[in-house]
Amino acid sequence: MKFTVLTLFPEFVASFKNYSIMGKAVEKGLIHLNTVDIRSYARNKHHNVDDYVYGGGPGMVIQAQPVVEAIEKNRGWSGRVIYLSPRGKTLNQQKVEELAREEHLVLLNGHYEGIDERAMAYVDEEISIGDYVLSGGEVASLVLMDAVARYVPGVLGNEGSTEEESHASGLLEHPQYTRPYDFRGYKVPEILLSGNHKLIQEYRRRESLRVTYERRPDLLEEAALSKKERQYLDSLRDQEA
Ligand code: SAM
Repeated sequence: MKFTVLTLFPEFVASFKNYSIMGKAVEKGLIHLNTVDIRSYARNKHHNVDDYVYGGGPGMVIQAQPVVEAIEKNRGWSGRVIYLSPRGKTLNQQKVEELAREEHLVLLNGHYEGIDERAMAYVDEEISIGDYVLSGGEVASLVLMDAVARYVPGVLGNEGSTEEESHASGLLEHPQYTRPYDFRGYKVPEILLSGNHKLIQEYRRRESLRVTYERRPDLLEEAALSKKERQYLDSLRDQEA
């Protein structure tokens, strides 16, 4: 999987290669992270890429020419161009898994008041990371890359699995524990020490249902649940009533 990030802050984005799971994936050659400075496509000696807004209004807008040339020079034949933008569709797990099947993602980062609309003709889609406004697309690109990288085969190695995580099955993840057994009087649930994998799996699934019911009941509408699991949810509702 290759990520090409078009940005005004290439050093900031490139630093992501030095850390954690992304760092290891880059080292192993499973992920290539390439950064491109949009300013290097400016056609003036000061490398300015922004200008005033037509029609008036506060702030500056990034011009179409350097953005479009950066896209054209770097997308190659397989690049899917994504503009990180608060106007885009909100990123979710389904989208993350879809993007992980791509060969090359070109992530366009805006800044200031955004990018001249005419550059959008060269963008395949706009993606938002949530209903709030950031000052630049860089942090949003890091979020997207981090989430997508977890689904690239080999990236997680022994450090985790995507299968049981929150959202993977449409539910939130069950609570997790590590040593010590007793932390300030709070003990690890006994069943997790039982060694009985079937019972542990059932317990975790129930906990997953409980946590989802308490925090994100909206997710339960879409989740594939057995009759027994629906009965368990009914019992939680009864307890509350
Ligand atoms: N004027 C724009 C608007 O109201 O839609 C906001 C521009 S914002 C200050 C600057 C840049 O940050 C955007 O061009 C975009 O690349 C990025 N950005 C801001 N919020 C974002 C979000 N929620 N998701 C993804 N990117 C975002």
